Amino acid sequence: MVESRPTSVVIAPTLESLGLARGRPLAIIDVDEVLGLFMQGFGAFVEARGYEFRVDRFAIFQNIYKPGAAEHAAIAEGRRLFDDFFATHCGEIEPAPGAVQALTRLSQRAEILILSNAPAQARALRGDWLRRHGLPQALVLSSGPKGPITAALTGQADGPTAFVDDLLSNLDSVAQHAPDTARFQHVADQRLRPLAPSSDAHRRIDDWTELGVALEQALLAPHG
Ligand SMILES: [Mg+2]
Repeated sequence: MVESRPTSVVIAPTLESLGLARGRPLAIIDVDEVLGLFMQGFGAFVEARGYEFRVDRFAIFQNIYKPGAAEHAAIAEGRRLFDDFFATHCGEIEPAPGAVQALTRLSQRAEILILSNAPAQARALRGDWLRRHGLPQALVLSSGPKGPITAALTGQADGPTAFVDDLLSNLDSVAQHAPDTARFQHVADQRLRPLAPSSDAHRRIDDWTELGVALEQALLAPHG
């Protein structure tokens, strides 16, 4: 009888290899719809390819239409555009208003790790984009629900930890795998905010200035 392997084991980089100190508070921050206006950038990319991008759902592929069509384009077609965007154009999105200022301030007192579920071909463009906008912090690319990798990263930190993402699936996963990590939901795109579901299980803060203050409170005075 062979025991089944645990499914949540994830090999995460060490904090040292990312240039992060274990002894400082650690904030793990998403890119798309948290640090960067993904829907705006991807929408412009899709429209330049002759499609319509309609922000009428909190979704990606179901918002891509052939001009005038009633039904969204095939998911496989959307996926090709998505992969192409990450390979060639993901360095052209706009930062979310207030994000760079808030993280720059937070980085004086906490370690910042940027955790993005972008395809591997986005690594160079995404890293360049972060540096160009004044965010030289460590970048880790992953895939799937972020709880296991977040637990593997926060498990190495001695101090308080926090996690920010736009997707409930990632926030729920972190609640399950790293329950001591403070969780915040942020949805950067103003058009998406009313469409994005939230949950009583995670604090939702769509304003970056307010989110920066909440992160400082969670990381620097976690028992206050
Ligand atoms: Mg995101």
